[in-house]
Amino acid sequence: MRVKFLDLPDQYRRLQSEIDPVIQSVISEASFIGGPIVKAFEASFAKYCGVGHCIGVGNGTDALEIAIESLNLPAGSEILVPANSFVASAEAVTRTGHQVVFVEPSGLSATIDGNDVERAATANTAAVIAVHLYGQPCEMSSISEAADAYGLKVIEDAAQAHGATYLDRRVGSLADVAAFSFYPGKNLGAYGDAGAITTNFSDLAMRARLIANHGRIDKYDHKIEGRNSRLDGLQAAILDVKLRHLDDWLGIRRTIAQVYRSRISQIPGIQLFAERADSLSAYHLFPIITPDRDGIASHLFNYGIATGIHYPTSLPFLSAYDYLEGRGGFLASENRSKCLLSLPIGDHMTENDANYVCDCLAAYFG
Ligand SMILES: *Cc1c(COP(=O)(O)O)cnc(C)c1O
Repeated sequence: MRVKFLDLPDQYRRLQSEIDPVIQSVISEASFIGGPIVKAFEASFAKYCGVGHCIGVGNGTDALEIAIESLNLPAGSEILVPANSFVASAEAVTRTGHQVVFVEPSGLSATIDGNDVERAATANTAAVIAVHLYGQPCEMSSISEAADAYGLKVIEDAAQAHGATYLDRRVGSLADVAAFSFYPGKNLGAYGDAGAITTNFSDLAMRARLIANHGRIDKYDHKIEGRNSRLDGLQAAILDVKLRHLDDWLGIRRTIAQVYRSRISQIPGIQLFAERADSLSAYHLFPIITPDRDGIASHLFNYGIATGIHYPTSLPFLSAYDYLEGRGGFLASENRSKCLLSLPIGDHMTENDANYVCDCLAAYFG
């Protein structure tokens, strides 16, 4: 038996009859940049997230950068970023002229909360990036309370969490502004790079749209200096088809996660990240925490099961952040990153596959 980590060719085979015609029609109409299909996808995704505005952009990193820029924060101000995330969450801060301040989540939580924000906020802090890591929503009420107390803006990094809910509201609608990635391997993935910004604030949406498209409101009417980061027609058409399947795919991910959680809780050598009853994860990834990560990974590999590590090095310990002081404050994240192992999860899998993975894990521990 084989369990792949991700199987995009298999997903395409299942969707081919829906995808091929929309690609054909974008090409026939030469609707490559902008146009009705981009507008249609932006409207469907805004509706899906329960927000007023969605702006399609070139990728998730651009979405973060443009979201930050559209907040008009004081130049050089500090932005809080969780110590365990994909590097883009931090890069976007520096690239927009702000200072990265890492924050370590406490306990067995994968995400930061209001207490973590309070611990790290200073007079120079202007915003916090709430990363819904692995698909698990951050505890947004406490983050909003802390943000209000310190006058901070809140940006959701929802790149791993399309469709996840917090207090019955979808991520992307829970803060000032949110950034999504549609990188092919994400829960909602394009056939290339793509991303989106969502917000309920129309002035912010207007600024984001200007920044993403050369600052223009009309063909040669450039209100500000912007940049080029647009969602293209082909990707929008593909995403619009795939969005209709997202809830079914989330259902499959949740079934697999349920099998994993109930069976792995019986295995003493493995810990799981805490989950809260106030939210429903999108289970982009399913990490386990175990000191014997490498042994388990090669055991699973020998049984045909692919695994991953998210992420092998916590952000403060990357060479890119040699310039920041105070790595000593992030030892818990760094030590944990050496114990992380992501099990396969996705719409290519069955409950049977998940049980097979658990059988192999249980066998490893005898
Ligand atoms: C994927 C990802 C991004 C960046 O998205 P791209 O589309 O690859 O630029 C940002 N943040 C997180 C947490 C991600 O997982």
